[in-house]
Amino acid sequence: MVGGPVRDAALDLPVANDLDFVFAGDAPALAAELAEELGGEVTVHSRFGTTTILVEEDRVDIVTARSEVYPFPGSLPEVSASTLDDDLARRDFSINAMALPLSEDAPEVIDPHGGLENLANQSVVTLHPGSFTDDPTRLMRAVRYEQRLGFQISETTLAEMKHTLAGGHADAVSGDRWRHEFQKIFEERRAAEMLLRAIELSVLPAIHPALTDGQGLTGLAGETHLPPNGYLAALAMSLSAADGEDVRRRLNLPADWARVVRDTIALRESESSFDGQVSRISRFLDGLDPNAIAAFARISEDPQVAARLRRYLDEWRLVSPALTGDDLLAMGVPPGVKIGEVLRELNVAKLDGQVSSEADERALVQQIISRGN
Ligand code: ATP
Repeated sequence: MVGGPVRDAALDLPVANDLDFVFAGDAPALAAELAEELGGEVTVHSRFGTTTILVEEDRVDIVTARSEVYPFPGSLPEVSASTLDDDLARRDFSINAMALPLSEDAPEVIDPHGGLENLANQSVVTLHPGSFTDDPTRLMRAVRYEQRLGFQISETTLAEMKHTLAGGHADAVSGDRWRHEFQKIFEERRAAEMLLRAIELSVLPAIHPALTDGQGLTGLAGETHLPPNGYLAALAMSLSAADGEDVRRRLNLPADWARVVRDTIALRESESSFDGQVSRISRFLDGLDPNAIAAFARISEDPQVAARLRRYLDEWRLVSPALTGDDLLAMGVPPGVKIGEVLRELNVAKLDGQVSSEADERALVQQIISRGN
């Protein structure tokens, strides 16, 4: 057993229900046997000889012990089957580079890189000085483990981070790989603290130079149950529309993430007009992603704006007239587009408090009919 579960067991933390194993042999063959015995389902990710077995809610990953060589900074590694020692040596931090042999009666932790010592002194430490340059996604990973565990990135490791950042190596990593690290952070309980720390250490600005402002995140520190979108919106909060578009391209954002970014920026830019008529605010918000609106309501510094956005989500967006299209036809409104127009006018009147009952609506419809347009 390797990596996270060994680390967490040594820390006396609950071990997650995904377990990682290294096998000095044919991992896919072992996984197939195990899945048959446990009644699970196997997926083989052939590129790295890694396999996943899903047994109900539990996930077991088995990899063939391997060594990795990075042909150039930020590239995907060249992988070859190897020993457990090599497999531990390819890992990111000493605290993740320990193994527990399962085949012995009294197993002892295999810890070639001082992981137990670093757990004791609460340090995130790389295995070698070139680690971040080999794989700059480890810059984000360092921050994630530091903040998750309440540790400190060691002085030496901080200096290595600076060196990799100064070398511009973050540029070599694809948007998809960076986005994957963001996703992992967004799913953590201390995501806001992690993102703030990544800004402080100049990791986010190295991914995109506009990601320098943690203001939207500051208010989220201490919140533990936000949907991932909330953190994305907080990051997007201070971007210009042009930078938002640029970040979308850099991180190759999928459509739903891109919408949250774009709509958060649109909300910030129009925040000052949210004290107008309810129908106008609603019309504007109807065109935006409810996830972005919910996120913005959480991070807006203006309590009145936040309250109005919440009312929109809870109330205004659900408003519809009491009368239906059929009622309007029966009242003599001509069929076709006119029906839709009158329904919209009724809705506006209802939102703005000009009608409050079905009788009011009928009176308004009569007015519209006699107005004759
Ligand atoms: P945990 O460490 O708690 O499992 P996680 O599930 O978020 O957290 P993963 O990203 O799945 O961690 O990584 C699992 C293990 O794989 C790590 O503990 C580490 O040993 C290794 N690992 C993952 N990514 C890298 C990387 N970029 N470089 C080196 N090792 C890595």
